Amino acid sequence: MNEFDYIRENAERIIYEVGEAKAKYRKADDKIDIMAVTKTVLPEAVNVAVENGITLLGENRVQEYLSKRDFYDKSASVDFIGHLQTNKVKYIIDTVNRIHSVDSIKLAKEINRLSELREKTTDIFVEVNIGREESKSGVDPDNLLDFCYELSELPNIRVSGLMSIPPKECSEKFFCKMQELFIDIKAKNIDNSSVWVLSMGMSSDFPVAIKYGSNVVRIGTALFGSRK
Ligand SMILES: *Cc1c(COP(=O)(O)O)cnc(C)c1O
Repeated sequence: MNEFDYIRENAERIIYEVGEAKAKYRKADDKIDIMAVTKTVLPEAVNVAVENGITLLGENRVQEYLSKRDFYDKSASVDFIGHLQTNKVKYIIDTVNRIHSVDSIKLAKEINRLSELREKTTDIFVEVNIGREESKSGVDPDNLLDFCYELSELPNIRVSGLMSIPPKECSEKFFCKMQELFIDIKAKNIDNSSVWVLSMGMSSDFPVAIKYGSNVVRIGTALFGSRK
């Protein structure tokens, strides 16, 4: 017995359940990535998930990420998913792959500016506040299209999709709304938006998110146990 065996078991179960939901609701060639959400979890524990096939990591907090990143298995790829302050983009821009939580033009401009300095293009997701909750960040669904057109003026970012954390109580209804928004906006073929990925679904509701077209499910608790 190893102290992290439970993570291996959880990883196996989640991979199985994602496969089941996919078989039930989606096409065989649809891509659905499982992300391990690492907040409060020690790097040794995170690496058990990576070794067991969950190689995409999601980071919420800049400071915590900076203290852990050197210890992560090198085969992992890291996305930033938490609320990001404009003045902190500089700390993560070189090592994260994609940023899922873009909800203001100011933030997008800073990601664009720093990407330009590095002669690269950064993939970002637009976070949508689909339930219009005061407590959550994200763009209002009614402003999403205009927001995406504004982002298309920034050459060093590429809009790769939409991200959302719907209200817990009626997540199915909101996943469905997200899917509608996603399909509508994809059809617009906006300039610098290319690969369209839908990032939604967490521990308690990922099979339902898969039903409504999710391509990235972000799993914390079901993988690592409840957070202290
Ligand atoms: C914490 C977090 C998750 C994972 O939540 P669980 O319910 O623990 O699976 C997913 N997405 C974001 C943005 C998070 O902050």
